[in-house]
Amino acid sequence: MAVAGEMLGPVLLDARRIRVRVRQLGIRIARDYRGKKLHLIGILKGASIFHADLVRAIDLDLSFDFIAVGSYGSRTTSSGEVRILKDLDDSVENKDVLLVEDIIDTGLTLHYLLQNLGARRPSSIKVAALLSKPSRREIAVPVEYVGFEIPDEFVVGYGLDYGQRYRNLPDIRVLRITG
Ligand code: 5GP
Repeated sequence: MAVAGEMLGPVLLDARRIRVRVRQLGIRIARDYRGKKLHLIGILKGASIFHADLVRAIDLDLSFDFIAVGSYGSRTTSSGEVRILKDLDDSVENKDVLLVEDIIDTGLTLHYLLQNLGARRPSSIKVAALLSKPSRREIAVPVEYVGFEIPDEFVVGYGLDYGQRYRNLPDIRVLRITG
């Protein structure tokens, strides 16, 4: 009988590739938001590392905040239920909001957040996601900035976890789950 567990698989995106891409996104965002009140919202915890690198790649006067939503725990499929675990500290009214997400899978989390935050009267609201799995989408969500489109694999590292582990890996790797 096989024992249930997980094993780190191949590197999908190494730290250097991620760094180059995050820098490109930062340059684009700075160009698009020049003269605006850019307010980034990092979605905890998965996007924390992407967010930290992205804000330093945006050469603009900006502000940021964080929101935490219900996560997968140790599971690898989305239930479609989204809960706010930690709300924003600051109002988004009249601000140009950029939601910073780690990965878009079914799209349900972002769909919920776009509706919820959109109702708080920001001047604009857009999305920057490091990763997207287009083949998994259940609901269409507009994403302005995407780092990488990836195949339907469960990935960890660079902020992404499995049962709260692996977030500190500098590369993004496939996780093989058995049992
Ligand atoms: P969605 O609501 O789009 O289905 O799910 C988005 C959330 O699911 C992400 O913020 C992330 O927490 C989690 N998720 C989706 N795919 C993966 C993956 O491949 N690896 C990890 N670690 N989390 C994922």
